[in-house]
Amino acid sequence: MSANGIFQAGEAVAVLTTQPLGGTLDYAAPEGGVAEGAFVVVPLGPRRVMGVVWGPGEGGFDRSRLRRVAEVLDVAPMGAGMREFLTRAGAYTLTDMHQMLRMATRAPGLTTPPGLRKVYRPGAGEVDRMTPARERVLGVLEEHGGLSFTLGELAEIAGVSTGVVKGLVKLGAVSEELAPRDVPYPALDPGYGGKALNEEQAVAAAALRAGVASRDYGTTLLKGVTGSGKTEVYLEAVAECLAQGRQALVLLPEIALTQEFLARVEARFGARPAEWHHGVTVTERRRCWKMVGEGGAQLVVGARSALFLPFRELGLIVIDEEHDGSYKQEDGVTYSARDMGVLRASIEGAQVVLASATPSLESWANAEAGKYARVELASRFGAAVLPQMRAIDMRTEGLPGDRWVSPTLQGLVRDRMEKGEQALLFLNRRGYAPVTICRACGHQVACPDCDARMVEHRFLRRLMCHQCGHTEPVPETCPSCDVEGKLAPVGPGVERLAEEVTALFPQARVAVLSSDLFGSARALKVAVEGIAAGAADIVIGTQMVAKGHNFPLLTLVGVIDADLGLQGSDLRAAEKTFQLMRQVAGRAGRAEAPGLAVLQSYQPEHPVIRAILSGEEEAFWRAEAEERKAAGVPPYGRLVGIVLSSPELEDVNALGMAMARRAEPLRAIGAQVFGPAPAPIARIRGRHRVRLLVKAGKAAPVQGAVTAWLAQFDWPARVRVQVDVDPLSF
Ligand code: ADP
Ligand code: ZN
Repeated sequence: MSANGIFQAGEAVAVLTTQPLGGTLDYAAPEGGVAEGAFVVVPLGPRRVMGVVWGPGEGGFDRSRLRRVAEVLDVAPMGAGMREFLTRAGAYTLTDMHQMLRMATRAPGLTTPPGLRKVYRPGAGEVDRMTPARERVLGVLEEHGGLSFTLGELAEIAGVSTGVVKGLVKLGAVSEELAPRDVPYPALDPGYGGKALNEEQAVAAAALRAGVASRDYGTTLLKGVTGSGKTEVYLEAVAECLAQGRQALVLLPEIALTQEFLARVEARFGARPAEWHHGVTVTERRRCWKMVGEGGAQLVVGARSALFLPFRELGLIVIDEEHDGSYKQEDGVTYSARDMGVLRASIEGAQVVLASATPSLESWANAEAGKYARVELASRFGAAVLPQMRAIDMRTEGLPGDRWVSPTLQGLVRDRMEKGEQALLFLNRRGYAPVTICRACGHQVACPDCDARMVEHRFLRRLMCHQCGHTEPVPETCPSCDVEGKLAPVGPGVERLAEEVTALFPQARVAVLSSDLFGSARALKVAVEGIAAGAADIVIGTQMVAKGHNFPLLTLVGVIDADLGLQGSDLRAAEKTFQLMRQVAGRAGRAEAPGLAVLQSYQPEHPVIRAILSGEEEAFWRAEAEERKAAGVPPYGRLVGIVLSSPELEDVNALGMAMARRAEPLRAIGAQVFGPAPAPIARIRGRHRVRLLVKAGKAAPVQGAVTAWLAQFDWPARVRVQVDVDPLSF
């Protein structure tokens, strides 16, 4: 290899492909040479597959017999930092390298050359006859003016046939032109639209800016109560990063929040950034991937998988709502975007900002230990004050078993309505009722393929499995005893709560925010904007309302069942309940009117409920930390979950037992193995699942030991093995 990282024609290079080959394969560099990190196409048997030039060939066999790299793709080579990141992330999560490469190349059409394509923009022609369909097309173009669409995508997003778009092109109302396929994103101006910060914010922003200016690795926990201006503050760190000419990445937990966030970025930097999540069109994803590699995207706003984009010069990663469980990918490759973000930044010499009102115990502990810096915003911005919080003791409310809004809560809601303010009732249960039971024989309707009950969704008139999505019509007779008309809903879901609320407040405008009631992110956005503008008196919502939306008229939050998350044996139950309740309560009183949050509870003296009400977080975390320390679990010990699944329960039980018996490699590092036990989801889509849990000391070389342990066994083909380093539930 020459000094500039180019392999000369004929030189042996090691290529990592997306195929399961157990490592790299050697090829001969093509005519004209090839750069280290280049994306290439290589022959593999009779096929051609994509790969990356990972380094010099490993050699060891006759050079003249090496097959030649077939094609060098016209995309920016993968940088050394990115290659190191994939290697280390793969080693940490015990993932094969071809899988890691697949994650890093999950952009469609990378092998298609750039070329020209048709793009659609607002035109100047008059529309003779405006129809709703035409209006939608023009609306989409207006709203997403900066994005690229193919004809099919534009039609799909607008919900019209391609003929409607073509008709508008004919009229000149939409212009169709040929443009380069992947164009850079509009430049962001770090000096545009900065807000005057209050003193507390200015101190926090200066600390974050200084971190970015150091051009060195560092992680800061930005802890700030809801409404304190965390977003404004970390956008200052983004500004610093952009001013340096380096790239920034902001991860959000929920794509429903993206549009609101993009609008804020535009207000701050004068243009929209690149977007990366599964709601983005294929064309746009490809553009984003390429531009990130070429430096044509300064800022990416995205979901956790954006971490695997090939940034050219990454200076900052912001992880907003860092405590959020959705940062853990549970399917396929299991990884925590928060932890992998820190790894990536440490390799690139970049900064990480972890923003949250209710940090994870992991991040809190890292700040306590001095590994992360900690920056605090203690008060809400402007006139807004934090909501008051109190419990409603449900034992004294005398509520019948099929009703969920206590008289006290009812009175509070009525009072808000009289003042023209909004109330939010929070219940973290989708659907109408969590259980459908036969009153003749006691049978509970369950999913045929999962270890889960079927949940009634009355708006859809169906039962649905929340594990696998299987749905079926509500049966008229009991599937077990065949008696007709005895199936009854038990317990509340948001739809049933809405029914009760409508009966209690017939004049109220009631809005239900639950993910399954909205067909698209756009529909949800419209609903959220409507509520923010005052189109509802009472909002009923699931977990999704806890995340980030601003409802200025909202002054009351009523948690229907504050005890819900405290049941069960999950060691994280207390942490999760604490976070969720504080987040939900934070929705109240974000503008001038003061807020109140009430928790309906049958155990208001429970230590977690008391900590939520008192807001004494440090004390709560300290107590949690003590418990975890005593149990030797994260963040004070290491856990690795091994989930075995098979259509046959016997397979996984027998194999699990054999694995537990032959655990010498684990014992060698002082680790223990528990199980096999039914996995947290014991059966899904017809597959039985058991889990073994490896518990090791914080500093034990657990990955190596697990690898050696697993290597002792041959699995039957129908058994799948999934390794989950740092499982979320334990
Ligand atoms: P958080 O992310 O902590 O919940 P936000 O950044 O969303 O808080 O801020 C809450 C609200 O206050 C937003 O509407 C935001 O625009 C506004 N805000 C915060 N700081 C400022 C500021 N310095 N100047 C003007 N508005 C601000
Ligand atoms: Zn199911």
